[in-house]
Amino acid sequence: MDILNKNIQYLKGVGPKKASRFKRLHIETVEELLYFIPRDYEDRSIFKSLRDGVRDEKITLKVEIIGQYILNRPRKNLSILKIPFRDSSGYGNLVYFNQDYLKDRFKIGDIYIVNGKFNKNGIENQIMNPVFEKPGQSQKVGLIVPIYSLTEGLTSNDILKLVNNLLKEYLTFIPDLLPKYLINKHNLMSIQEALMNIHFPKSIDYMKKARNRLAYEELLNLQLGLSIIKNKTINNNNGIKFPYKKEVSDFIKNLPFKLTKAQLIVLEEIFTDMENNKQMNRLIQGDVGSGKTIVGIVSMFKSVVSGYQAAMMAPTEILAMQHYESLTSLLDKYDIRCELLVGSLSKKKKVEIQSDLKAGKIDILVGTHALIQDNVEFNRLGLTITDEQHRFGVKQRTSLSQKGENPDIIVMTATPIPRTLALILYGDLDISIIDELPPGRREIETYAVDKNMKERIYKFIEKQVSFGRQAYIVCPLIEESESMDLNSAKELFQYLRDERLVKLNIGLLHGKMAQKEKDEIMERFNKNDIQVLVSTTVIEVGVNVANANLMVVFNAERFGLAQLHQLRGRVGRGEYQSYCILINENMNSISRERMRILQSSSDGFFISEKDLELRGPGEFFGTKQHGLPQLKVANLFTDMDILKVAQTDAHHILNNDPNLNNEDNKGLISKINEMFDKNLDLLDY
Ligand code: ADP
Ligand code: MG
Repeated sequence: MDILNKNIQYLKGVGPKKASRFKRLHIETVEELLYFIPRDYEDRSIFKSLRDGVRDEKITLKVEIIGQYILNRPRKNLSILKIPFRDSSGYGNLVYFNQDYLKDRFKIGDIYIVNGKFNKNGIENQIMNPVFEKPGQSQKVGLIVPIYSLTEGLTSNDILKLVNNLLKEYLTFIPDLLPKYLINKHNLMSIQEALMNIHFPKSIDYMKKARNRLAYEELLNLQLGLSIIKNKTINNNNGIKFPYKKEVSDFIKNLPFKLTKAQLIVLEEIFTDMENNKQMNRLIQGDVGSGKTIVGIVSMFKSVVSGYQAAMMAPTEILAMQHYESLTSLLDKYDIRCELLVGSLSKKKKVEIQSDLKAGKIDILVGTHALIQDNVEFNRLGLTITDEQHRFGVKQRTSLSQKGENPDIIVMTATPIPRTLALILYGDLDISIIDELPPGRREIETYAVDKNMKERIYKFIEKQVSFGRQAYIVCPLIEESESMDLNSAKELFQYLRDERLVKLNIGLLHGKMAQKEKDEIMERFNKNDIQVLVSTTVIEVGVNVANANLMVVFNAERFGLAQLHQLRGRVGRGEYQSYCILINENMNSISRERMRILQSSSDGFFISEKDLELRGPGEFFGTKQHGLPQLKVANLFTDMDILKVAQTDAHHILNNDPNLNNEDNKGLISKINEMFDKNLDLLDY
């Protein structure tokens, strides 16, 4: 095993300088290099003869050099080298631009295998800038060639040579850690064959089979690791069997608004779960503003009229307070007692709530993390809801449900997650989706602009404020940073307050402020005492100020699309036309494409799928936030089918052998450990 961990610096032909370049590609060890998967392949394996050449297509052929080179210099910075050759079907020239040094490489009578673009100049056959080698070498021509992602100072050829040597030298030392029975079951390649063929495939089919094996193994390990960490295999707990209650339909009828079809469908799914005796474990995904809260409230109502308590946990005091207010206004006609438990309550109030809760005198408890403190005990907890669950760790979520005896569990999120990722992150949950917004919402007008537009944006802010509206401005950083040329909230706040928008009340909000300070600022923004709120992404979740109709995001290119979509969801909550302005300070094509997607779509799921496609899962959430290990082979966007197979296998394996103790399964552990090694503490989704 040690051999695989050997630093590549000590390999022949590498050394510290090259090694540091490999490091930029996150490659330090032999193993990492072996698992450096080509990003593409070029098929140079199929020989053709000149006669079959198609203009502008690459062609591989066997040639014999038949004459002296000709060197021309038609312009100052241009030289054209021509080497006459023939093949079995005709005559032509190898043509090189500005590569005079090649002129003495080709001797009359030499035989070469060459690959280059075919061109026809009048009747002259040309092969443009071909790569070449002697027959039988099969390193660059006459085979399928891997194309690697590059970094400055490393050519594809450098990597290719090194990998080729590595495979020769180390392949036999690589243990196959995938259990034999799985290899047989799915008819997979051995690890040696797979690594060989992922770099130097015998054919495209072999390459696919190799990739398949490696991706499967990776996704299996991912699934196993996640399940082990979550310590949850499929949930088969018996839970509470809630009765059907007519009061619930009456409650729905009497709501101040009509529920959308999507809300009703999701409620139906929840009721079905509640009314059977299996413990519900359901994730509700719904775009910002899709009305998840009311779905939660109706479910809690059902729990209460069935004689059980219910609890709803939110990530911030502001959100908890908002939920509490919605609840009390909807429930005041009923004999249902609802309380709010947050950190900022007086000791006395807290103690009162705790004792009433335990005595069963409180029906619904809403709050923050305060809910999961040890001294909070329920009398008969039937249902727990965690709102904006991605803000909580797994442990926090489960400790809420552990306050009852297998209560039904709902978690809600406004972060639309692409299907594959949802399967990975929430494979153990049933998923409901609210895919419709309540009627009458106006589209938020979204504009992507460059930084030259800032002055116009400030004018626009002044105008909106003069109409009585409010604005958010979001920056990627809290403070100025030496290493990054990005806008910081503090700087911008000072600039606007002291120079550019002196007549307006400007507020500052960021994650490093004390909770009390944050609440104070939000309260002032709520009251329109602050008109322009400069902040970091702390306002991403749950903030609801209907009068704010303008969201400006600085360095929008730095944010995930899903995140920008979330930010945009902070406006458009009231009756006013709302605007979202994305200042894109990086005009590369991917960045522009991403902005275009946001401008043209308001569908969170579509947006998140696109983001995953464009940026890959590594950057999708920021791996750190979600603790998802970086994948080397599998692609979460395209490998859905493999993922499903791996997931089923993982469930089977863990059901029969929860700690992977069986001789067959032991090999899996080391890979899983390696995969999650550095991320275990961060795993938090
Ligand atoms: P989110 O899904 O983002 O948590 P909320 O539950 O906060 O959304 O709902 C956003 C707003 O929409 C709230 O003011 C809520 O009262 C309102 N709302 C929810 N459902 C409906 C509906 N069916 N018709 C009209 N308004 C609704
Ligand atoms: Mg919500």
